[in-house]
Amino acid sequence: MNLVIFGPPGAGKGTQSKFILKKYNLFQISTGELLRKEIMNKTQLGKDISSAMNSGKLVSDKIAGGLIEKFISKNEYKDRMIFDGYPRNKQQAENLNKLLNKYNQKIDLVLKLSVSLDVIKKRIIGRAVCSICGKIYNEFFNPAPVNSNCCSSRFLQKRSDDTLDISISRYQTYEKNIKPLIDFYEESKLLRVVNGEMNISEITNEISRIIEGIKG
Ligand SMILES: [Zn+2]
Repeated sequence: MNLVIFGPPGAGKGTQSKFILKKYNLFQISTGELLRKEIMNKTQLGKDISSAMNSGKLVSDKIAGGLIEKFISKNEYKDRMIFDGYPRNKQQAENLNKLLNKYNQKIDLVLKLSVSLDVIKKRIIGRAVCSICGKIYNEFFNPAPVNSNCCSSRFLQKRSDDTLDISISRYQTYEKNIKPLIDFYEESKLLRVVNGEMNISEITNEISRIIEGIKG
């Protein structure tokens, strides 16, 4: 099974990816990480990537495709990949289909974690860290205990407002950019939307149910 996962920043995509990887023994194909590795190992591809980045260009679809093919072509990775952060546009999604097809594979499932902007805001505004013990709370979803000595309001630290503005704009950009991709996968009947507003274990269970259903 190969799958693609989407989710706006703050939706818990990282946590859920890790869970899926472990439970179903998959490999994560995250282009950001792969790019960094190539650069670090100073491969030819890594040098091409560096020079593209240094001249202020985005890594081209061609370079990203070449990088992805390195893994798709490996026997060990066959039908065991979860794509995270790739594809980023419809062109890349089409390339990915072609590449997979070349190695007798396909995408079996596309998961989108869906979280409303309102909840994202509350997750950010409500977040508070106890400066004594380091525990993380959220005044909306997981408030600090009322009669605790250390986690009382005078020790709870909140983040500044600019964090909120940045997060809102990241969320909106993300949703806008992946819209054509989501439409693309919806047309191919591969898309399953998961309510990312549930708690972590509920989301995990929902994802498991979907995957088990597909594996049959
Ligand atoms: Zn505390």
